[in-house]
Amino acid sequence: MSHVFHRHLNQDYPTAVKGDGPYLIDSQGRRYLDASGGAAVSCLGHSDGDVIKAIQDQVGTMAYAHSSFFTSEPMEELADFLIDRAPEGLESVYFVSGGSEAVEAALKLARQYFIEIGQPQRKHLIARRQSYHGNTLGALATGGNAWRRQQFEPLLINVSHVSPCYAYREQRADETPEAMGVRLAAELEEEILRLGAENVMAFVAEPVVGATLGAVTAVPGYFKRIREVCDRYGVLLILDEVMCGMGRTGSLFAAEQEGISADLITIAKGLGAGYQPIGATLVSGKIRDAIANGSGFFQHGHTYIGHATACAAALAVQQAIESRGLLARVNHLGDGLQARLKERFAQHVNIGDIRGRGLFQGLELVTDRTKKTPFDPALKLHARIKKAAMAEGLMCYPMGGTLDGRQGDHILLAPPFILDNTHLDEITLKLGNAI
Ligand code: PMP
Repeated sequence: MSHVFHRHLNQDYPTAVKGDGPYLIDSQGRRYLDASGGAAVSCLGHSDGDVIKAIQDQVGTMAYAHSSFFTSEPMEELADFLIDRAPEGLESVYFVSGGSEAVEAALKLARQYFIEIGQPQRKHLIARRQSYHGNTLGALATGGNAWRRQQFEPLLINVSHVSPCYAYREQRADETPEAMGVRLAAELEEEILRLGAENVMAFVAEPVVGATLGAVTAVPGYFKRIREVCDRYGVLLILDEVMCGMGRTGSLFAAEQEGISADLITIAKGLGAGYQPIGATLVSGKIRDAIANGSGFFQHGHTYIGHATACAAALAVQQAIESRGLLARVNHLGDGLQARLKERFAQHVNIGDIRGRGLFQGLELVTDRTKKTPFDPALKLHARIKKAAMAEGLMCYPMGGTLDGRQGDHILLAPPFILDNTHLDEITLKLGNAI
């Protein structure tokens, strides 16, 4: 028996032993095309020579220096790289080791900002239903996924949830996409007013919803309106780009395509592309200055902040994406993938919706396409499709439907940016077989 404490304690996992471009190979020699990038992580595939060399060079020179004593060259260079390309107003980078840590740091930065400027009562956070922001307790409390939360309740008390921007299920029959955005921004405003704006700290949302809804983009104009509502009431906007950021949707930051900036942006997965564990919280000048000119000390920290080898890996990943023109490739491949999915599945009796942006595409499964009826969650259809896909040699990322019928099972695809058309054909074929 394996002594590894798996999340699924009664399941057998193959042992991955080698990476080969977009494929992982297990100890039996079976090859798996990584159509999910793990969980939207591996954007450069699994054996990138430039990244491997950058890691080897850094680990051989200076692997780690504790952040309370030193910065490091790769840490400084990576921060410069990100801020040079970040949406307006973001001026510094707080490094962490993954997505949940990036969200925790964002929450505490928001809270400390209001303490520093003399508004300590601004503690309340607003997020959206059916959202996922991580699994540590603060990030879990932020997320609006009832199933993940329920057994750990009570979580943090100062969080409330408003509707997600999920046109497939929540756009009303008599409503244009634009009107839906207006309605949802008004819902946020009402929630702020209900709580009292003077008590509200921040609103947090994923620009393109990944794990919980399967690559759901917002309706046009939604995020601009959300930004306006936040500004009107002095509420900070936190964009969680842990999954959709770092080029995944065709621009380095997903916020760029919404035409907005944020007070805090969290990134992780694609930042280190799986070569090293790393995440970051991008911090606006306003928040940084308030803390710098106030106590001068952010009351937070972890041992592996800004790990030099992790920063060197992430810098090499991001430089490779830029120098090889991979963002253009994401757009091109994304169009090709969506076209293939539509051709193969648009008429499929059990595929209700095909959606996404760039190399971030989702399929939602239903029993009845007209009524959009989700499958009974007890069937665990998503898990069965994942298993069948693995047997085909394909990795796809599954998520279950909900008991309340608010969403169906879905499959998320988030492959590496280095594919060619034959890989897109392989994804479509194997996924079709699995479904
Ligand atoms: N935020 C979002 C939007 C995510 O998708 C995830 C991971 N799926 C997280 C936060 C948490 O990241 P991690 O698993 O690296 O802690």
